[in-house]
Amino acid sequence: MPATEQRARPGEENGAVIVVGGSAAGLFAAATVASGGRPVRVLESRREFKPASRSLIVTDEFRNQLGSAASESIVNEIRRFELFTDGRSAQVALSRPDLIIERSRLIPALARSAQQSGATLSFDTRFLGLAPNSRGLRVEIDCAGKREELHADSIVGADGAASRVARSAGWPPIETVPLMQAIVRLPKDQSPDTTRVWFVPDDTPYFYWLIPESSERGALGIIGEDGRDTKRCLERFLEKKQLQPLEWQGARIPVYRGWIPVRRRVGNGEVYLVGDAAAQVKVSTVGGIVTGLRGALGVGQAILQRGGGRELKILRRDLRTHWLIRRALHHFQQKDYSQLVDLLDASTRESLGEINRDESTRLLWNVVRRQPRLVLLGLRGLLMGRGFKS
Ligand SMILES: Cc1cc2nc3c(=O)[nH]c(=O)nc-3n(C[C@H](O)[C@H](O)[C@H](O)COP(=O)(O)OP(=O)(O)OC[C@H]3O[C@@H](n4cnc5c(N)ncnc54)[C@H](O)[C@@H]3O)c2cc1C
Repeated sequence: MPATEQRARPGEENGAVIVVGGSAAGLFAAATVASGGRPVRVLESRREFKPASRSLIVTDEFRNQLGSAASESIVNEIRRFELFTDGRSAQVALSRPDLIIERSRLIPALARSAQQSGATLSFDTRFLGLAPNSRGLRVEIDCAGKREELHADSIVGADGAASRVARSAGWPPIETVPLMQAIVRLPKDQSPDTTRVWFVPDDTPYFYWLIPESSERGALGIIGEDGRDTKRCLERFLEKKQLQPLEWQGARIPVYRGWIPVRRRVGNGEVYLVGDAAAQVKVSTVGGIVTGLRGALGVGQAILQRGGGRELKILRRDLRTHWLIRRALHHFQQKDYSQLVDLLDASTRESLGEINRDESTRLLWNVVRRQPRLVLLGLRGLLMGRGFKS
């Protein structure tokens, strides 16, 4: 794909939509809006189109969202989770496998689909700011070192956790946490269809994971609270597990602490946020692909005035359920995790495995119905979780 824009530049037509950020959420929003016949231009600050390689785990909802385009990026399937804490373990079999997808394949597939729908992609083009004008919005950009102005009716901010679009339109900054992972050789005793999760509350209120991307390699990661401590903990954990880092990956991930309204009116124009820019990340697991795509679809449909409310409602409900789960877990101590793993008896594990983790409200009810003791434990976490409030 050429590194510059592909067709006549939208930005002057009536109804023009500018999407800032050419990653998962932005490209999906662009494809949705362009397929409805609106002129769409995607601005991406990176110089060239070479998305960094990164293995991501997603639920199989991803297939429903992307249809045949999904298969290009799937590199492995996960059928089981093994949970570890303090010498105890529990296994959860998934009836619908989770998918391991490769980001460097996903982004080009989404870019192609956006272009086929009629969107224009511009690289080396950085969004600088926006202001209302008589026609809608004036957008200031840096295009390969040159300042330019564009005009649009609507702008979609898909520019990640530190969104400049959000700041320019008056949304407050969002909180982020560090995520670090090391690519390692998969231990001989770990099956490539099994993800391992360790709860070590002395190191992190979140968890460690080892996600196989193939039978040879996996990503061992941690979500922490402080960047330097997080790296130290990961290094120590790698040493303890006798694993050598082959490469490092990391970034700051938004923490969802309550629904961020996705639309703002600025003068006669409209500004929307999708994906990490709107903290559309499941705060229990810090997964943002499926939720970001859902947010992008909802916003795309809203721009086309074809609803979108349903997608955004489902997204909001799911983000809230994950927030409640995180709030319950956030102050768990070692003994609570030990109890939790012990309580994950056969019927509860069946429930967790049966339901897609994106249908989190249904999942929560099923777990609660089959294993009411978990409610008490969760309630305790909620009461203790004073430090993790909206
Ligand atoms: C190491 C790591 C592992 C992860 N693992 C998982 C996982 O297993 N499962 C999962 O679901 N999620 C995972 N995530 C989270 C997931 O990757 C993100 O939630 C998702 O990529 C967010 O997509 P996005 O399109 O909203 O934003 P981003 O991917 O952050 O994209 C923002 C884009 O905007 C561009 N941009 C920024 N500013 C400007 C500007 N001013 N002008 C123009 N362009 C701009 C950037 O260059 C970038 O391309 C992981 C994240 C990391 C860092």
